[in-house]
Amino acid sequence: MHSQHVAAEPPSNDVPGALWSPASGANRVPLTFDVIIAGCGPTGAMLAAELRLHDVRVLVLEKETEPKSFVRIVGLHIRSLELMAMRGLLDRILQHGRQRPAGGFFAAINKPAPKGLDSAHAYLLGIPQPVIERLLEEHAIELGAQVRRGCAVTGFEQDDEGVTVELAGGERLRSRYLVGCDGARSTVRKLLGVGFPGEPSRTETLMGEMEVGVPQAEITAKVAEIRETHQPFWLRPFGEGIYSVVVPAAGVSDRAEPPTLEDFQQQLRAIAGTDFGVHSPRWLSRFGDATRLAERYRVGRVLLAGDAAHIHPPIGGQGLNLGVQDAFNLGWKLAAQIRGWAPETLLDTYQAERHPVAGDVLDNTRAQMELLSTEPGPQAVRRLLTELMDFDEVNRHLIEKITAIGIRYDFGAGPDLLGRRLRDIDVKQGHLYGLLHRGRGLLLDRTERLTVGGWSDRVDHLADPTAALDVPCLLLRPDGHVAWIGDDQQDLDDHLSRWFGKPAD
Ligand SMILES: Cc1cc2nc3c(=O)[nH]c(=O)nc-3n(C[C@H](O)[C@H](O)[C@H](O)COP(=O)(O)OP(=O)(O)OC[C@H]3O[C@@H](n4cnc5c(N)ncnc54)[C@H](O)[C@@H]3O)c2cc1C
Repeated sequence: MHSQHVAAEPPSNDVPGALWSPASGANRVPLTFDVIIAGCGPTGAMLAAELRLHDVRVLVLEKETEPKSFVRIVGLHIRSLELMAMRGLLDRILQHGRQRPAGGFFAAINKPAPKGLDSAHAYLLGIPQPVIERLLEEHAIELGAQVRRGCAVTGFEQDDEGVTVELAGGERLRSRYLVGCDGARSTVRKLLGVGFPGEPSRTETLMGEMEVGVPQAEITAKVAEIRETHQPFWLRPFGEGIYSVVVPAAGVSDRAEPPTLEDFQQQLRAIAGTDFGVHSPRWLSRFGDATRLAERYRVGRVLLAGDAAHIHPPIGGQGLNLGVQDAFNLGWKLAAQIRGWAPETLLDTYQAERHPVAGDVLDNTRAQMELLSTEPGPQAVRRLLTELMDFDEVNRHLIEKITAIGIRYDFGAGPDLLGRRLRDIDVKQGHLYGLLHRGRGLLLDRTERLTVGGWSDRVDHLADPTAALDVPCLLLRPDGHVAWIGDDQQDLDDHLSRWFGKPAD
């Protein structure tokens, strides 16, 4: 079963020339699940949890028998921290990470974040990737998701009722939808035949975490000196005596072999004249700047999210954040489709909203990689941008981009807040985000005269004249984005229909 057939539903997602298979012998396999997710990385685990909030039957298939063992520390940016707060996970996650200032991430240009960033969580959390993956997987399992390890998806076939998924051992399982969260080399994307255009890798970089053998003061002085020569290099403390090290890979031996500590020592000596006594590496890796974006995120009943849909260099630390945010956008929409209340085009808004966001991340990583080049032209641009970042607006724009709090989805004409996420604000019951744990919509009503009527099974209503808002009333989607602003009941009903389908009788 290596080919796949494309279902007719919905018509807007038909692929010209693609095969369509009516329900066939394939569905002799019982339709046991609503959604099968390929891959239990951060994207797959987050999606499973979001679907479970709506009682969707979810199975996550993970090819590895054990969780990842490398200890790479990743940065969770502001928007991801907000998502965790919206689902009641933030306290748990904060216990395992280390808070750092939000600034200094764009092309590693060392500028502090502007004051007054519009968030209750205006910091970066450094946390080992396996820890965040474990916490998200535990959360999904607590909510009732099934996770099966040692199960690689090798094929699938879709028809008008569902998707039959084949595993490496030949076992077949059936669900109504399949989501490929199976990483950069996604089997699901390849079998789907979705194009993955972009650029191959041109520049290789070494990145790792290790301990150093010299005092911090010595490192600070040397790093400042090297910064003057604008080498693509950093050596930064990441907490508990661990340093994050980035050096160019040019000149390092065999590309096919994983880098060694000696490779890092050699590169450090070439750049800094000293290897800073680095030792005891936690992990060492080599990455390129391949940059690619899936042509589409959905074909019929099969969707893509996370690295399966987009890859880019890790500069700025955005990949995991982007994937988790894809999952947050998709979860409630796919759940609505399965529960039967989704408006006809709701599921398609996943691609409409998230594809341009990924395109923007790809572009900002392209720009950042250029700014790390040692060529005189890019270095002049780097100096200029460094000057420009002294202007608060420029610095703020770049930080809002990297941290994803600047995203505004296109919901049509309206006030600037429409389509943006709403920051956590004080409400009668405490914090707004504390009211979003169940993944439902929320009407925040300062007029105290509106109602969610027949949508009350999907949307909560908070009448609160004290809410710290400068609009009379707004409707939040389950992902915390502002779907409507106003004070008129008929207008509200139209927008409830747009996002939450028909009212219950
Ligand atoms: C050096 C480096 C540093 C980084 N730093 C950061 C950072 O600071 N911040 C940040 O946001 N991002 C960072 N990233 C990027 C981040 O690691 C990825 O974007 C993130 O892991 C993507 O998550 P994912 O769940 O989409 O995919 P993955 O993490 O790749 O997970 C995919 C899962 O699918 C499984 N799988 C694969 N094929 C199959 C199959 N056929 N069947 C079943 N299961 C399958 C895999 O085993 C894996 O568990 C960094 C990346 C690198 C290389």
